[in-house]
Amino acid sequence: MNTRVQLLIIGGGCAGLSLASKIAQSSTPLKSLVIEPRVCYQDDRTWCFWKGQGSGHDYLPLTEWTTLELAQGRSRVLANFAEQPYQMLRSTDFYTEKVDAISQSEDVELRLGTTALSSRRIDGGLWLTETSEGGIVSDFVIDTRPAQSVSSTPPVLWQAFVGYELESQTDSFDPSTAQLMKFLETGSKEIEFLYVLPTTRRRALVELTVISPDRPSFEDLAQRLERQLKEKFGDQRPNVIRREQGAIPMGIDDALGFARSSEPSDSSYVHVGVAAGSARPSSGYTFCRIQRWATACANSLQAGGKPIGPLADTSLVKFMDSVFLKVLRRHPQLAPELFMGMFRKVPSRRLLRFLGDSPTLMDAMFLVAALPKLPFLREVIRPTKETSRMSSEATCLP
Ligand SMILES: Cc1cc2nc3c(=O)[nH]c(=O)nc-3n(C[C@H](O)[C@H](O)[C@H](O)COP(=O)(O)OP(=O)(O)OC[C@H]3O[C@@H](n4cnc5c(N)ncnc54)[C@H](O)[C@@H]3O)c2cc1C
Repeated sequence: MNTRVQLLIIGGGCAGLSLASKIAQSSTPLKSLVIEPRVCYQDDRTWCFWKGQGSGHDYLPLTEWTTLELAQGRSRVLANFAEQPYQMLRSTDFYTEKVDAISQSEDVELRLGTTALSSRRIDGGLWLTETSEGGIVSDFVIDTRPAQSVSSTPPVLWQAFVGYELESQTDSFDPSTAQLMKFLETGSKEIEFLYVLPTTRRRALVELTVISPDRPSFEDLAQRLERQLKEKFGDQRPNVIRREQGAIPMGIDDALGFARSSEPSDSSYVHVGVAAGSARPSSGYTFCRIQRWATACANSLQAGGKPIGPLADTSLVKFMDSVFLKVLRRHPQLAPELFMGMFRKVPSRRLLRFLGDSPTLMDAMFLVAALPKLPFLREVIRPTKETSRMSSEATCLP
C-alpha cells in the first residue's frame, strides 16, 4: 500500500529539514513527508555565515568571531567584523531543533532509514516514488539528493575539504581570531588553504581546502591535512575528536552562464540543494541561501502554489561571480592577492553585502577597485564559448 502525501521531500539534510520544519510550524501545514536514509543524525558538519545574512538561526547556540585572518607566508590581513561577526552553527544543534519542530506537527513526518530509489509520473499528474520502504504518491516532490540533482555540466571549480575538530592537551589555539584562509604554496593549478576555527584555546576545527577544476579525493585531502598538522605540532598532534568533509561545486556553468541555478522552476518536481545550484558560485557559502529558499518555498506552497527551486541571483551577482570564477580558474596563483586584497581594501559592510548575495553597484565598484585589473578585464571580454569549453574540459565526478 502506497503512502499518500501532498509533498514528498527527498533528503532530510539542511534543505529538506529547513523546509519541512517551516511547513510544520505554519498555520495550515501541507501533508508532507521527508525521507532520509540515515537512521540517526550525527555532528557531521558546521555551518558558518556572517551575522545579518539571513541565517534565521540566531536563537540556537552560535560561536562567533569578530576578527578574521587571511595569510600567505609572512603577509597577513586582519579584518574586523565587530558589527557582523562570523558565526558557526553546529549541525547537531540544527538537526535536533528541526527534528523536534517536525515531531510537534501531525501533518509533517520525518521517516528515517528510508532511501528514495526512483520517481515517475502516474495518472492524475501525481508522482510515485519508490523507496526502500515502499511507494509514496505525492502531488509534489522536492529532491535534495546530492548525486541525482547534480548538473550534467561540470562546475567551473570544485571546493573540496577535509576538516578535523582537534583537542589538544596544551593551549594551542587563539579563539579570538578565525583563520579564514591560510594559503599554502602549491605551485599548481590548485588553490590550497587551511581554515581554522578555534572555539577554545585547546579546541579548533582545522580544515584543509582545495579549490580546483579537478576534484581531489577525500583521502588525498586527509593526507595533506595530516602533513600540515605534523608540520605545526610535530609528535604532539592534538587528538581528532570529529571529522567532516565536503565537495561543493562552484559555478555550474554552461553556455548560458549559471542557467541551472537561475532558472525559476515551476514544475511539480524540483531539485534543490548544493548540487542543484544552491551554493553561491564564487564562495560555496550555501546555508543562508538555503534558509531564504526554504522560506520562499514554504510561502509558495502555503499560498497554494508549487514548490520552487533555488532562488536566482541578481544579474550583478551572476556577472561578478562568473568573472571571478574564470579568473580563479585561469590564474589560481592570484588567489591570495585577490582574497587578501578584498578583505584589506573593501569596507567590511560592502564586502559582506557582496558575500551575502546583495551587493549594490557601488559595492561592486569598490570590489573591482580592490582587484588586479588586467586578468579581470581579459575575462570580461573573453568570448563565452571559450568559457564553456574551459568548463567542459573539467573532470567530472567519479
Ligand atoms: C562538511 C561541510 C561543511 C559545510 N560548511 C558550510 C558552511 O560553513 N557554510 C555554508 O554556507 N555552507 C557550508 N556547507 C555547504 C552546505 O551548506 C551544506 O552542504 C548543506 O548541508 C547542503 O544542504 P543540502 O540539503 O543541499 O545537502 P545535505 O545537507 O547533504 O542533505 C542531502 C540529504 O539527502 C540525503 N539523501 C541522499 N541520498 C538519498 C536518497 N536516495 N533518498 C533520500 N535521501 C537521500 C542525504 O542523506 C542528506 O541527508 C558545508 C558542507 C559540508 C559537507
